[in-house]
Amino acid sequence: MSFSFDTEIAGIRQKNLYRFLRTVESDQAAEISFEGRKILNFSSNNYLGLANHPLLKKAATQATEKYGTGSGASRLITGSMTLHNELEETLARFKGTEAALVFNSGYHANLGVISTLVGEGDEIFSDELNHASLIDGCRLSKAHLNVYRHGDVACLEELLAGTKASKKLILTDSVFSMDGDLAPLKEILALAEKYDAMVFVDEAHGTGVFGKTGRGVVEHFGIDSRHPRLIQMGTLGKALGSFGAYVAGSKSLIELLVNKSRTFIFTTSLPPAVLAASKAAVELISRDDSFRKKLWENIEYFMDRGSWIVDRQIQRSAIHDLRSTMSPIIPLIIGDSGKTMEAAQKLFDQGIWATGIRPPTVPEGTSRIRLTLMASHTREQLDRCLGEIGEIHKI
Ligand SMILES: *Cc1c(COP(=O)(O)O)cnc(C)c1O
Repeated sequence: MSFSFDTEIAGIRQKNLYRFLRTVESDQAAEISFEGRKILNFSSNNYLGLANHPLLKKAATQATEKYGTGSGASRLITGSMTLHNELEETLARFKGTEAALVFNSGYHANLGVISTLVGEGDEIFSDELNHASLIDGCRLSKAHLNVYRHGDVACLEELLAGTKASKKLILTDSVFSMDGDLAPLKEILALAEKYDAMVFVDEAHGTGVFGKTGRGVVEHFGIDSRHPRLIQMGTLGKALGSFGAYVAGSKSLIELLVNKSRTFIFTTSLPPAVLAASKAAVELISRDDSFRKKLWENIEYFMDRGSWIVDRQIQRSAIHDLRSTMSPIIPLIIGDSGKTMEAAQKLFDQGIWATGIRPPTVPEGTSRIRLTLMASHTREQLDRCLGEIGEIHKI
């Protein structure tokens, strides 16, 4: 044979980019079990700790009893169920938009929305640190791709000014998934007005976490959810403790997506248990802000006790000032992939699960440990994590 999987894998290993799976044997709590031992989870996006909340579990169980386990078909065939409508109405109300549409995952949503909105001859403007699913959406759309420097509105403006395409789409994460900083959404929307563009915002890490009522970074910056140039997307599998994603916007946007979005049309729809858990999660955080409050208390506590981490990040010329934009995502930039994995392994051996992140997830030379905080972490657990990071300080 002219190809060998093993040779390719050996090449990946050589570059210190080898990946493997580790199996969690418990539910997704702050303390999880791995190979029979307990370990503290500092890598999950389950920011509000809802993934094992009794109300979500109950909603999923009841929905399964009533509606069964599978939807059996895509939405446009027979897979559009009462629970899909209920979840979409709940989401539109939560986001303050005319309508919402549920996708099977954030990855599906990003591919489906971008390739619906733009095509050949159109122009995309994408932040260089955008999530892989946005990048893949660009590729699928066949629109011309302009990448602007991370968070740099001057660079974005220069690119916008230099194009004559009639359809322009700006893409950005709202909270950058590997850095935890925020996109300058107000400035981006102002540019969209000036240059007649649409803005698609990915609130995968903003939903449930940012904003006065947890609606995301759009709310955090006081932007009207019904801004005519704004299209919002968010996920249900991270802070909301369930699975799937939504797109929130105008009725006509949703109508167009139902008609054109291939990742919506050509896939079996989400099952009842997942839909009911998502709906329960949105309802729960809408009436009870204690989860978000606890998360932010934990973030403030961690950043205060760990202020040396910030100083060290600044020394390493990290991408942004961790103090000025706080988020549950705390990157510890190490740089070298090998050293990063060595540090992550040391932490793991000491009972702290904090995953090392390497290219292509992050740019070359910026390998890091990505810590994430949850509402369900106790002070003692945060202290233990800080202590162990102190131990690997030298790396
Ligand atoms: C996780 C993530 C996605 C993908 O969402 P899934 O529901 O996990 O497929 C999209 N965008 C960003 C920024 C993410 O972090």
